Amino acid sequence: MKVLVLGGAGYIGSHMCKFLSQQGHQVVVFDNLSTGHASAVKWGEFIEGDILNITDCEQLFEQQGPFDLVMHFCAKSLVGESVKKPAEYYKNNVLGTVNVLDTMLKTGHKSLVFSSTAAVFGIPNVDLINEEQPRLPINPYGQSKKMVEDILKDYHQAYGLKSVCLRYFNACGADPELEIGERHEPETHLIPNILKSVNNESNLKVFGNDYPTVDGTCVRDYIHINDLAAAHMKAGDYLATHDGAYAFNLGNGNGFSVMDIIKASVVVVGHDIPFTVEDRREGDPAVLVADASYANKELNWQPKYTKIEDIIVTAWQWHQNEKF
Ligand code: UDP
Repeated sequence: MKVLVLGGAGYIGSHMCKFLSQQGHQVVVFDNLSTGHASAVKWGEFIEGDILNITDCEQLFEQQGPFDLVMHFCAKSLVGESVKKPAEYYKNNVLGTVNVLDTMLKTGHKSLVFSSTAAVFGIPNVDLINEEQPRLPINPYGQSKKMVEDILKDYHQAYGLKSVCLRYFNACGADPELEIGERHEPETHLIPNILKSVNNESNLKVFGNDYPTVDGTCVRDYIHINDLAAAHMKAGDYLATHDGAYAFNLGNGNGFSVMDIIKASVVVVGHDIPFTVEDRREGDPAVLVADASYANKELNWQPKYTKIEDIIVTAWQWHQNEKF
């Protein structure tokens, strides 16, 4: 297959490119490098451009296409930032995606795998979130992704554009061969922040220990980046035989508190990790854990990294050997 990876210079997109290339597929990467890194584009041709620029989009599809499948990872994705700068989130994530969809239709492309998020669910009232749960986002990031999910349903009904939305819970870890990994500036995610504090690059802060959870810290479902990449591949295959606008929740189904992750990191790095407890971070729900049984059944997808220490090891090795 020839696959277009929008946002292929980013954390999840670059792992996707490696995965696709390992499976023998041809990759074209499109990215504006706002948060991604040119040095992370190691598989496939790189086209620099912006989904907010319709001319960039049209040239991409007309000059580089046709593509058998489009995977769309371009997005602003920080909950806290989205609360402060909602306009950027609605522009990039919603308007930008509409540009992509309209260009796809104009150039005869009908299959899309879209990065969505557990943030569409807001504050769920169940322990394990399946696809039946109401989507009631509590921040502009989640809201922008929910809007796109709804747009994709309408575009399927009206224009026949087929799509799979994959709602990631907490993507983490790195390529075990250490060719690529996670690097955000500024870094806001828990596991890289823990590892940075181990290297004395920053002080670790725990955002809130008064949540209604076992130890008072937030509980999340941590899923290895390569398991996510595998799910995208399966979603692409699914679209070859299914005609609809689908959505699947992707996680391990196990909740780990912030303190659990710190403890597991202590085991991985082999010594104590100091931290301070700070105020809650705006927009953080107490618990987000996936019920991924629908993806297990429909996509025939199972995560391979089920032990949290195994995931953290890959992030730790990457962090010690960062190559870009
Ligand atoms: N968190 C923390 N300290 C950090 C980064 C994150 O305590 O330096 C907490 C955060 O408040 C949340 C959990 O760790 O409860 C996971 O946050 P992350 O940003 O990694 O992912 P999110 O769940 O926001 O997608």
